[in-house]
Amino acid sequence: MTRTQQAVVQYATTPMGVELREVAVPEIGSADVLLRVGAVSVCGSDVHQAYGTHSWAVNIPVTLGHEFGGTIAARGREVTAFKEGDRVVSETAAVICGTCLMCRTGRYNLCPSRKGFGYNVDGAMAEYVKVPARCLHHVPDTLPFDLACLTEPHAVAYNAMCGNAQINPGDLVVVLGPGPIGLLCARIAALSGAHPLVVAGLAADAERLAAAKTLGATHTVNMQDQSLDEVVRDLSPIGADVVCDASGASRPLDAALKLVRPDGQVVKVGWSPDQVPVDLNPLVHKNVRLQGSFSHNYPIWERVIGLIAAGLTRAHLIVGLKANLAGWHDAFDAMHSGKVIKSVLIPETGNGK
Ligand SMILES: [Zn+2]
Ligand SMILES: [Zn+2]
Repeated sequence: MTRTQQAVVQYATTPMGVELREVAVPEIGSADVLLRVGAVSVCGSDVHQAYGTHSWAVNIPVTLGHEFGGTIAARGREVTAFKEGDRVVSETAAVICGTCLMCRTGRYNLCPSRKGFGYNVDGAMAEYVKVPARCLHHVPDTLPFDLACLTEPHAVAYNAMCGNAQINPGDLVVVLGPGPIGLLCARIAALSGAHPLVVAGLAADAERLAAAKTLGATHTVNMQDQSLDEVVRDLSPIGADVVCDASGASRPLDAALKLVRPDGQVVKVGWSPDQVPVDLNPLVHKNVRLQGSFSHNYPIWERVIGLIAAGLTRAHLIVGLKANLAGWHDAFDAMHSGKVIKSVLIPETGNGK
């Protein structure tokens, strides 16, 4: 008889086509491990999928969740670098081709055949998840899973700010959008020496903007009652050295191109299904470097695990709610409404530690 488990499954792409279901515990292949999930954090993209506001294809039915860590319960016969009982976190590229230029040069996050946990391949909002061993990283015993699971969004932010953009100490950095990724981008910018560091949002983001201050922002701006342009020009009349668009919308690219100084950098990490016309003339006229940022790879994960374990990213400050799998709905809603920055799900069998 196949063993079954509880899982948070997206079964339709219409809004709220998600429910807690009883599904089979996955069978592993020779290069996989079976991971007992210790904790899985809810990503903005999980919330977008649940509310039907995502901009990527979803292969339904699929178990949600791509930000996770846990303990190895079983391993395939080819797996030698990890063993039963090891504490690990997992990268998100569940399937890659392994042979294209991107894969062969360690940039497998950009493999055209990449398939990710939680939208193409069953993810970790379950008691157990099947993971290829190549995705795994050990985590120190001192780092609990309810923080280790945040490695993935930290890696997104690290790649945006320290891979695709380069921040120098003293750079004026502006982050548009204080969602989880925007706040982590701000924290990584602060660690990189950004100063001043401006985080901008809307009136509804009041609590997130307050959190930005605790993460190192020197200025926060509610754009509905203050001009971001004026704040930035007061700090530096020529404009910002680096602007990060983490807003999850398309329109703010216009603002980013206006705020950036000549020969500055704009890095776009948020995306949305909206297609809007953008004035690209400042891009040329000011000789701006516009750079997209997607996902992350092995060396970024190793760096980020070290930063989180050392407490440098202040990861605990962004977690506002912890729930078991049955509490997924409240956990998603709390993020959707902006009540919390980040929710973490802890399966009964996982205990978060
Ligand atoms: Zn994520
Ligand atoms: Zn490839």
